[in-house]
Amino acid sequence: MRHPTQIPRDLTLLPYIPPYFGRGLRLLCWCVGLLYFIWASLRVQAATVVLDPGHGGYDPGGVPRQRFIEKKVTLEISKLIQARLLASGHKVIMTRTRDEFVELEDRVDISNSAPYRAVFVSIHCNSAPNSSAHGIETYHYSSRSGRLAQAIHTRVVAATGEEDRGVRKARFYVLRKNRRVAVLAELGFLTNPKEGANLARSARYQKKVADAVAAGIQSVVR
Ligand SMILES: [Zn+2]
Repeated sequence: MRHPTQIPRDLTLLPYIPPYFGRGLRLLCWCVGLLYFIWASLRVQAATVVLDPGHGGYDPGGVPRQRFIEKKVTLEISKLIQARLLASGHKVIMTRTRDEFVELEDRVDISNSAPYRAVFVSIHCNSAPNSSAHGIETYHYSSRSGRLAQAIHTRVVAATGEEDRGVRKARFYVLRKNRRVAVLAELGFLTNPKEGANLARSARYQKKVADAVAAGIQSVVR
């Protein structure tokens, strides 16, 4: 009986493999494994989305004596967007989940602390002294945020059939101080009787708008 540590005779016929080659092969396998792991985790993990329902607490948003309250509508629609994104596997960070005042600085801090690939979307509704004003506006500050702004804007305009008031650049604090891709969506005028009633009273319209925002986000971040 052969001793277990004894090299079988047949193996001596194999070509000679120098030890450094074996080490190199192991290193190569290890690197390929690591790269696969990184690739797989990036592919599986959907990007984090920071949702920022505008206003809250003592800041109702909009203009004084406005019939439909902006802080309430922005939170309702943001929660619908959150649900849709969570269902698609995204991680969602909300800057507020109830009727509370959050400083603009804190909203930006939350976004800047989010993972590097995260995107920030601030949800607002417009208001104007002239009640006939209506339509959708979408804002960004950095050029690299333009693509997300356009993606959200196009879908919200298409879903609502409302007037396209354009994608615009603006120096809003939450956009200007943001180190993530950042967009601010004005989803319609609460001071317009028809648009305001739709945004504030119609669950179906709110869902339609929220789905459009979520679809816009998902078309850009994965
Ligand atoms: Zn607002």
